[in-house]
Amino acid sequence: GCGICVHKCPFNAITIVNLPEELREGCVHRYGVNGFALYRLPVLKEGMVVGILGPNGTGKTTAVRILSGEILPNLCGSNDNWDNVIRMFRGNELQNYFEKLKEGNIKKVVKPQYVDLIPKVVKGKVRDLLTRADEKGVLEKLVQELELLNILDREIQHLSGGELQRVAIAAAMARDADFYFFDEPSSYLDIRQRLKVAKAIRKLAEEGKSVMVVEHDLAVLDYLSDIIHVVYGKPGAYGIFSMPKGTRVGVNVFLEGYLPEENVRFRPYQIRFTKLSERHSQTGDVLVEYPSLIKDYGNFKLEVESGEIYKSEVVSIVGPNGIGKTTFVKMLAGVEEPSEGKVEWELKVSYKPQYIKVDYEGTVYELLSKVDPAKLLSNFYKTELLNPLGLPDLYERKVDDLSGGELQRVAIAACLLRDADLYLLDEPSAYLDVEQRLAVSRAIRHLMEKNEKTALVVEHDVLMIDYISDRIMVFEGEPGKHGKALPPMGMRDGMNRFLSNVGITFRRDPDTGRPRANKEGSVKDREQKEIGEYYYTI
Ligand code: ADP
Ligand code: ADP
Ligand code: MG
Repeated sequence: GCGICVHKCPFNAITIVNLPEELREGCVHRYGVNGFALYRLPVLKEGMVVGILGPNGTGKTTAVRILSGEILPNLCGSNDNWDNVIRMFRGNELQNYFEKLKEGNIKKVVKPQYVDLIPKVVKGKVRDLLTRADEKGVLEKLVQELELLNILDREIQHLSGGELQRVAIAAAMARDADFYFFDEPSSYLDIRQRLKVAKAIRKLAEEGKSVMVVEHDLAVLDYLSDIIHVVYGKPGAYGIFSMPKGTRVGVNVFLEGYLPEENVRFRPYQIRFTKLSERHSQTGDVLVEYPSLIKDYGNFKLEVESGEIYKSEVVSIVGPNGIGKTTFVKMLAGVEEPSEGKVEWELKVSYKPQYIKVDYEGTVYELLSKVDPAKLLSNFYKTELLNPLGLPDLYERKVDDLSGGELQRVAIAACLLRDADLYLLDEPSAYLDVEQRLAVSRAIRHLMEKNEKTALVVEHDVLMIDYISDRIMVFEGEPGKHGKALPPMGMRDGMNRFLSNVGITFRRDPDTGRPRANKEGSVKDREQKEIGEYYYTI
């Protein structure tokens, strides 16, 4: 018998062991006999953006590759034709889609996850690449919407991550297709760029296209999507697509850690966000007052106003790309000398750089034991840091074999294990999935509160900023030319200052307290802009 197909099994399927009973059906694709297995697929809907939310290694990219026709799903057996796939999805919204895909009648385009690989396969100038892609004659509009004018004549080889991302997105949008897939469009982008991209993607749906987006920034996913699928399972082993859900409900049940329709709890705790009224403003002792500083690179100049930081607080550092956030953090870490002013203090600083270099031969466990062997064994650090970040699973791995997200978690753990007064973390959410971002946020918060230490965290993910921050430090200016670092401010003033620069307002979800970006020009957006409350209305 065949227990893994929804309908009659047309081929010899392998039996799957070790899987909950309810999952013995709907297996869509398996990589090799004991490889990763994907259950069910997300829907595609004309005129809608379908958002995909879930951990790394649960089959999101695999689903995109199946729906875009790149992989013929083996139905977890030896299937080798589309007719069986169509049969399996009979009565499902995807039946019709697969019929057209089989006939070759689907025009689709994929923005791949790893934009850093693009320069390896595409050479030449940005303008030429985009001109070749421009089947719809929309290049000029896209260049404006995604702010690409200054880089049109650059070689693709010379682009930064954020520039490559926007070029790849523009190239996909310029294609004349019916189905658009965007795999992690916000990586490397600052908040303003993320929301610009989100708006451009929404426009495709408004034009009647079917759009699917895999995204780990919850504020962006929430803003983008008409419906979402949550993916759950065991990373690397199997992944299951939930039923489609309304965006608000989908994100909320995700934060809850529990899918009611599926009756699955995938996280032991829920995530809640604190309202302004529930936040404690800094009441502790001052840790240090840093002086005003200037760093002049010639082409770029950063001015830092002096400011105070307190014990037991977490301060988020926000601002566009190229405004000097990393430069500031490096000066505090003693990695970069200021051109004017001096960082003279007795503080012990622990620093996680934005770009993590690997020049270590041993395993993850060996590396972390060198930092602090006692903490590695302490129950407190296991509960608050090591287990939530999934580090025990990485202990035996060689540091130089780790993926970007694995390396990021090791670097964060190494930084937080070190004994210090001040922790500096530059973009800790890069390469992490939503679940890991939430785990990192919780770990930073708890460790600073319980150990009465201080953290400064450079971050672009609004939900993470909201979750971890006591106060916020805003960087303003002209990216790539000059930047100004304002002293840390309370959340209300800081978010107002920052978001008015960006031109986006947020409201709060009544159930979870999470921030949700208002659609531009909506009633709430206009009201909040009028009274100058970009972030807190109560
Ligand atoms: P996600 O996009 O959710 O991070 P992927 O779909 O990329 O997940 O991968 C899901 C799992 O399938 C991972 O464990 C990955 O290692 C495995 N996998 C992906 N592609 C292949 C492949 N071509 N062969 C074998 N295993 C693969
Ligand atoms: P952010 O972290 O806000 O993205 P950075 O501090 O990394 O910004 O960079 C600010 C500006 O300073 C950028 O234009 C960058 O190119 C420039 N810059 C950074 N480091 C150097 C350096 N060592 N020499 C010259 N310019 C630099
Ligand atoms: Mg930086």
